[in-house]
Amino acid sequence: MLGHDEHDHHACRRDGLARAEARCEAMGLRMTAQRRQVLDVLLSSHVPVSAYEIIDRIAQHGRRPSPISVYRALDFLLANRFAHRIESRNAFLACSQDHGTAAAEPMLVFLLCEACGAAAEAEPPRLAAMLDDVAERAGFRTKSAVLEMRGTCALCQEAGRTAPLAHHHDHGDHA
Ligand SMILES: [Zn+2]
Ligand SMILES: [Zn+2]
Repeated sequence: MLGHDEHDHHACRRDGLARAEARCEAMGLRMTAQRRQVLDVLLSSHVPVSAYEIIDRIAQHGRRPSPISVYRALDFLLANRFAHRIESRNAFLACSQDHGTAAAEPMLVFLLCEACGAAAEAEPPRLAAMLDDVAERAGFRTKSAVLEMRGTCALCQEAGRTAPLAHHHDHGDHA
């Protein structure tokens, strides 16, 4: 979107689709044309996109999909960890990792850049262990744990981009 394509993003996108298709085949999942199309939109940018942005982008190259079909495709992609939801932006991001097929939800950390909007993800095992410990002490059964960090990505720091995104999809939570 905002000049965040300093790396070879075509390779990024191609590899992402190839990986997803290989994993579908291995797991007996069906990558339908609609699911593939939605994943392709997510892979086309490191900036998380909302469901309506997904619809608009697909419509640029063909028929406008119905919201329900896009939500269904997103459900599939989220359930099988091909994509993640960025809660604070109500937007979606293609998964850049391989979380395996364990039943337990992986502990994810999202690094959200306020200058360019890009999101990166990490799965830090030591942090997961610490949070397990916190839950255990409280006798709490964790369903999911997602951490969002906000700041400035390495590329933006290098380029001197520091301006915060202008109230981008924020629902009144202020730092
Ligand atoms: Zn992921
Ligand atoms: Zn950035």
